[in-house]
Amino acid sequence: MTEPTPLPTRRRARCPVCRRPASAADKPFCSPRCRDEDLRRWLSGGYRIPGEAAAPDADDEGG
Ligand SMILES: [Zn+2]
Repeated sequence: MTEPTPLPTRRRARCPVCRRPASAADKPFCSPRCRDEDLRRWLSGGYRIPGEAAAPDADDEGG
């Protein structure tokens, strides 16, 4: 007796940007556009723009 081997649950990857089914060509995104969008998000979120340290107004009133 042979047991029917259960098919591996194939999870359809979803585009992390718009949640649409991913395209085989642009995995895991649905389109090149979303791939770009994700990259932009990553860049804007990963890179911290160093704020210019404002020099304190040294008001040295001396004699
Ligand atoms: Zn998408």
